[in-house]
Amino acid sequence: MLKVDQLDVFYGNIHALKGVSLDVQEGEIVTLIGANGAGKSTLLKTLSGLLKPKNGTIQYLSNTIAGKPAQEIVKAGISHVPEGRRVFSNMTVEENLELGAFLRKDSKEIQKDIQKVYTTFPRLLERRKQLSGTLSGGEQQMLAMGRAIMAKPKLLLLDEPSMGLAPLMVKTIFEIIEDINRGGTTILLVEQNAHMALSVANRAYVIETGRVTVSGTAAELQASEEIKNAYLGGH
Ligand code: ATP
Repeated sequence: MLKVDQLDVFYGNIHALKGVSLDVQEGEIVTLIGANGAGKSTLLKTLSGLLKPKNGTIQYLSNTIAGKPAQEIVKAGISHVPEGRRVFSNMTVEENLELGAFLRKDSKEIQKDIQKVYTTFPRLLERRKQLSGTLSGGEQQMLAMGRAIMAKPKLLLLDEPSMGLAPLMVKTIFEIIEDINRGGTTILLVEQNAHMALSVANRAYVIETGRVTVSGTAAELQASEEIKNAYLGGH
């Protein structure tokens, strides 16, 4: 579904991604793990069109999307939930969800999908008229994910969905990620919480200072002594 080949991305002189190659098959959950500053968010931003690569190709469903405008990429079925969840604080929960569907014209279907988001996240239904800026961190994460789902993505890019959340909420968010995937959405998940990420993923890539250094099935990475010591706190 997605094939990234030899991607180089720069911020001015900073070479943030150095020849990154990876692929995601339809139906998978693939996770990218790596330390702070490794280049994980940079990769997601490049996939969603927020950054332009200097070299390399991105094939998505047999189209080349590297360097295409973000709006075109959303239209093609890729939604990005950025780090820090950026909801529109002065709009209500429901208005944020409606905005997620701004490229769609099927208003009946949009209403149905809003109801589906409420079924997935009952907390959002309770708070549908609340201003989003007043939601808790976990609720804002749910809203950011709900808004991305409203674009009806085929591929969902999630950047650190567990960041700053209490353990119970982390568990809930990961269960929801698995539900969304079971519903037919392919997921590329960036996570600092390698333990949780590997527990839901089919496959994983490790990124270190802009390069992919290890890749394999989630089970292989969970069993690797090197990965255990570096990313799983030794166990
Ligand atoms: P984290 O887990 O801390 O979010 P990350 O793996 O997502 O890390 P990136 O945010 O992709 O890392 O950053 C990769 C590198 O690019 C870092 O060295 C970072 O300082 C640099 N970088 C990121 N954004 C910019 C920017 N706008 N201008 C200059 N350098 C940047």
